[in-house]
Amino acid sequence: MAARSKRDLVLAAAKARQQAVAPYSQFKVGAALLAGDGRVISGANVESASYGLTCCAERVALFHALTSGADDFLALAVVARLPGGPMPCGACRQLLAEYAPDAAVWVADSRALRTIREFTVKELLPGAFLEVPKHPGPEP
Ligand SMILES: [Zn+2]
Repeated sequence: MAARSKRDLVLAAAKARQQAVAPYSQFKVGAALLAGDGRVISGANVESASYGLTCCAERVALFHALTSGADDFLALAVVARLPGGPMPCGACRQLLAEYAPDAAVWVADSRALRTIREFTVKELLPGAFLEVPKHPGPEP
């Protein structure tokens, strides 16, 4: 993928970050997905007073993308104010493994958007659980 596209996606994530709803942690994260049809679909984290209900930027973007009919994701960019950029959490890695298994993952610090660390979904979650086993019927 062209460097310009990579930078554009990181910039889209940085822009999405401005819409984060993070009144408790103030940790604002933005994410942007590049779909196979060329669409860029973004999201930001949303926090809840019931902390466990908080949703990461990556999943907000992914759910938005999936419910907009996008698929075949080529890349995900994630931006936050964090040295080296924010790494997706385990929950997001699981969803990415299921719905964006071939995506590149680009992370950047919002203060250094030109420094982009690059990963793949597969290397972020090796041995992912990807399929619910078919119910085998009653045990003998
Ligand atoms: Zn997450």
